[in-house]
Amino acid sequence: MQTVRSVAELEQALSNQTVGFVPTMGYLHRGHLALVERARQENPFVVVSIFVNPLQFGPGEDFERYPRDPERDAKLLAEAGVDLLFLPEASELYPEGFSSYVEVTGPLVERFEGAFRPGHFRGVTTVVAKLFNLVRPCRAYFGEKDYQQLAVIRRMVADLHFGLEVVGVPTVREADGLALSSRNVYLTPEHRRQANGLYRALLAARSVARAGGSVAEAEAAGLRVLREIRDFRLDYFAIADPKTLEPLTDWVEGARGLVAGRFPEVRLIDNMEVYP
Ligand code: AMP
Repeated sequence: MQTVRSVAELEQALSNQTVGFVPTMGYLHRGHLALVERARQENPFVVVSIFVNPLQFGPGEDFERYPRDPERDAKLLAEAGVDLLFLPEASELYPEGFSSYVEVTGPLVERFEGAFRPGHFRGVTTVVAKLFNLVRPCRAYFGEKDYQQLAVIRRMVADLHFGLEVVGVPTVREADGLALSSRNVYLTPEHRRQANGLYRALLAARSVARAGGSVAEAEAAGLRVLREIRDFRLDYFAIADPKTLEPLTDWVEGARGLVAGRFPEVRLIDNMEVYP
């Protein structure tokens, strides 16, 4: 595996390859590696980027303390058969004078994460658009873990004619159901024990749906579980259309439960298909 840090080196290393691309912020876990594995299966050349993108963190969020271990990450990626690792400094992607942004607008970005993290998706779409322009992949791989992000990227790729396939990869979980996340390392042991409550809430909603309950009944079942997580403060729990993320009153195929909230030391999100 070759590691490059500058745009110039990246361009040289890519020359006319058919690329599968996995953008990440590093501190890799089995969730990231599932994306890499899928990219490996479907493309002759796999590029991974690791970049903790300052633009997608709000003031007071965890940009400074976001966990980083590029050496360990590089080793994992080499073992996973990645061809090229792009590991830029912030100054490489945002040199002095940088002033162009890519923004998806409307309800898809305004609700859920967009409401709790103003500017977050603008930061994500800007950096992903830049990375797509640099890496020029045929396929790009994103986790369903960040379900709204996946929907926003699909919107951007369609709207701006990026001409690449966006592949969504199912969420990888711990044995107790907690979705893998680089941020899980922040959890205290006690909160780590409580943290699978998000998964249990989604399962509860799904059980109600599968037993013939209404959307409102499924939401109520999920909320009951969430209220019992002792140190957890809920941001939102909703059942939404899987494409537009519009909150539902009646079931549609693939309806998605979406949840987010905070333990004192970390904010967690999760989601699941709850219907049928
Ligand atoms: P991040 O490094 O958190 O920006 O994540 C990079 C990519 O990995 C994103 O597309 C995430 O959705 C995806 N990802 C993160 N956690 C998981 C997980 N537990 N399962 C599947 N994909 C994940």
